[in-house]
Amino acid sequence: MIKLSALLALLALAPMASLSAQDADDAPRWSLAIHGGAGTLKRENMSAEQEVEYRAALQSALDAGAKVLSQGGSAMDAVEAVIVLLEDDPKFNAGRGAVFTWDGKNELDSSIMDGETRAAGAVAGVTTVRHPIRLARAVMEDGRHVFLSGHGAEQFAAEKGLEIVPPEWFATEHRRKQLEKMKAENLAALDVEFKFGTVGAVARDSAGHLAAGTSTGGMTGKRWGRIGDSPVIGAGTWADDRACAVSATGSGEYFIRAGVAHAICARMLLADESVQQAADAVIADVGELGGDGGVIVVSKDGEAVFSFNTPGMYRGRATSDGTNEVAIFAGE
Ligand code: ASP
Repeated sequence: MIKLSALLALLALAPMASLSAQDADDAPRWSLAIHGGAGTLKRENMSAEQEVEYRAALQSALDAGAKVLSQGGSAMDAVEAVIVLLEDDPKFNAGRGAVFTWDGKNELDSSIMDGETRAAGAVAGVTTVRHPIRLARAVMEDGRHVFLSGHGAEQFAAEKGLEIVPPEWFATEHRRKQLEKMKAENLAALDVEFKFGTVGAVARDSAGHLAAGTSTGGMTGKRWGRIGDSPVIGAGTWADDRACAVSATGSGEYFIRAGVAHAICARMLLADESVQQAADAVIADVGELGGDGGVIVVSKDGEAVFSFNTPGMYRGRATSDGTNEVAIFAGE
């Protein structure tokens, strides 16, 4: 027979036990955030039709990643599924539809990171690999190196059997005109683009693992083999299961100098800041240096947040507890 005192002790514990069980249920099992670039995205500069097209593209990418995660797939697979779709979409500055270099080429940069092992892969300046994010993942999985560039990265892609396309695959009229305008009017990259357009995804899967990935054509009119933050592990991309996963977009030089993606996770880990506090503090730091852009972040507990200092950022988030939204302008 159970003693009365033991029974009372059990009863006293019962509400606590059920509360913590409920807390665990409330935390999202999986979560996902995506971006398609930040910049001067203002309602008045965008037609209703364009807005509908961008929202639909973001929603399809978000759905592709959410499907992987809701079926118990890994954060890494979800990140890849999102980015592959956005790389093929000419509206975004990654894969097809990438911006042009000063010499009239499309040179692609990408990176990916696994939060469980902190394995990472990155590529810069590739011109014939249809899905640079898959190449970054192949570099990571191969494991001998983290960062490959140019011709060697392409040789590696061919050896791994990745899809190779002619360089013209990436070229679009719209992006070529941006380069021509920049040259004719002697403008800075940001003046012709009004937005950046890089793509990225961060995810937490139901096993609690994080992953982050980013893919870009860089900045219009880039020269001399310029590489931005997107393929730089710790600047444009970072994932660490102990803290968070980050993908950035913006004026890459400043994001490299602020070590953005790593800095956000380090603040969470070492200064015990919340995910939103850490992201806002680092974006403020970028702003103080003179840079513009934003980040998407998923915390180890599954919170999915955004932070940006531009008028807009193409973005979306979905979680297992029912959140599912895409947005473009600040304040949405
Ligand atoms: N961060 C990218 C770069 O500097 C540009 C972008 O975000 O669109 O290459």
